[in-house]
Amino acid sequence: PIQRKVAIIGSGLIGQNWAMLFASAGYQTSMYDVEPGQLQRALEGTRNQLTKYEQKGFLKGTGTAEEQAERISGTGSLQECLNGAFYVQECVPENLELKQKVFRELDALVGNDVILASSSSCLCASMIADGLAHMQNVLVAHPINPPYFVPLVEIVPAPFTSPDVVVKVRDLMKAIGQAPITLQRECLGFALNRIQYACINECWNMYKTGLLSAADIDSLCTNGLGMRYAFIGPLETMHLNANGIKDYCERYAQGAVRVQEETFHQIPVLYDTPTAEKIQDDWAISLPLQKLPERRAWRDNMLAKLSKLKSDE
Ligand code: NAD
Repeated sequence: PIQRKVAIIGSGLIGQNWAMLFASAGYQTSMYDVEPGQLQRALEGTRNQLTKYEQKGFLKGTGTAEEQAERISGTGSLQECLNGAFYVQECVPENLELKQKVFRELDALVGNDVILASSSSCLCASMIADGLAHMQNVLVAHPINPPYFVPLVEIVPAPFTSPDVVVKVRDLMKAIGQAPITLQRECLGFALNRIQYACINECWNMYKTGLLSAADIDSLCTNGLGMRYAFIGPLETMHLNANGIKDYCERYAQGAVRVQEETFHQIPVLYDTPTAEKIQDDWAISLPLQKLPERRAWRDNMLAKLSKLKSDE
């Protein structure tokens, strides 16, 4: 087994998921947190989750749940957490000033070869780490919730990030069973959320204009597009739905443009409260707010099964 150590800064939801992923691949994983009591909860939380996954047949990597849990430790000392670590995954709350402060602290304590990755969902490395002594070792490695079962990681280097670090993080993500994609430059929203927003835009517009019910809009994705997209992406779908993507464009581009000219709102009026309230009312019986935790657990269970299915691809 690999005897290398990684440091996880912040032991909340995302920190715990990273810890389990690294431990599954054999890494010694040290979590650090500033909140009293949180580390204990995180250690118990990861142990319980690993045990549950083992019972259900969802455990990843090498060793038993017990062995993997033994690889995860916790400390209230940042120095101790970083001691001997070659890779740091920052997972503190999404707040620019806080991330800047944490990266200044990390910068002062790490050696020249230590890679510093942020889990940030929308802050870029150039906003967080510009000017630090080790800024060439900093990038964003953005996971998708729940990371243990959704493997995508968006790797987003700053202009100052060393290309060598990008390659190393990509390789590391593969080594722990994740699926990295690399953005060639920083951009607002990274990549996944841009696609997600484009999708939400059309869903919102279709609901607002009374074309479909909320349930039917979601069914369109879960029973239609999503079935495909778990295995073949939009571009390969084009390729398969004609005699290659070039043929697809020749056949269908005109139609696609007509549909978009007719239906797409240039800047959709998004997330307006009246529409959100209406959708929430539609769900008053099937998915009231108090049922959300149960539904999230169900989602994670289904994603676990899908992730198992995909591993047989
Ligand atoms: P969280 O609130 O669950 O956990 C954050 C943890 O950081 C807490 O335990 C807190 O005590 C700790 N913390 C606060 N200040 C600290 C400091 N100075 N040093 C060390 N620890 C500190 O948050 P989360 O959902 O795990 O999100 C963490 C990061 O991951 C955010 O940047 C978020 O945008 C990103 N992210 C979240 C999701 C998601 O779905 N939750 C998905 C992808 C990325």
